[in-house]
Amino acid sequence: MKRALFPGSFDPITLGHINIIERGLELFDEIIIAIGVNSDKTAMWSLEERKKFIEEIFEGNSKIKVKTYTGLTVDFCTSEEAPFILRGLRNSLDFSYEKSIAQTNAMLTGVESIFIICAPEASHISSTIVRDIARNGGDFSKLVPKNVK
Ligand code: ADP
Repeated sequence: MKRALFPGSFDPITLGHINIIERGLELFDEIIIAIGVNSDKTAMWSLEERKKFIEEIFEGNSKIKVKTYTGLTVDFCTSEEAPFILRGLRNSLDFSYEKSIAQTNAMLTGVESIFIICAPEASHISSTIVRDIARNGGDFSKLVPKNVK
């Protein structure tokens, strides 16, 4: 059983995330969508709301699990018996940021990171942009799944 962790803040989940998860399902038997609890960051949507959005989207899909975690992502990988981390790459900034984290994780723990290049139609989507639009009362419906709208 090939199991991967897809970690993130998912504040909120976007069509960009969904694209990576759907393509990741071609590679892995099970994907744990792991919502990281970061006490330094104030989220716009509560942890419960973020989890509920994702559970609704993948309801009935036995290959997807949704969990929350605190602490190091690699430690959560160990406790969940997931030797892979799935991440999406939008651009060279994502790559530079992810590269050293992935190399350190592999060196220290053996957890392997697998990257999927985002679909061209989703490369402009980020949770940060969705939050900016939401904060200013705009329409972000084209960037997120139906239930987040
Ligand atoms: P984090 O704060 O850890 O970056 P996010 O929730 O913003 O968490 O993102 C989780 C993962 O989804 C990351 O690997 C990120 O690069 C990826 N991701 C976010 N938006 C997109 C997108 N539009 N296309 C592809 N991957 C994306």
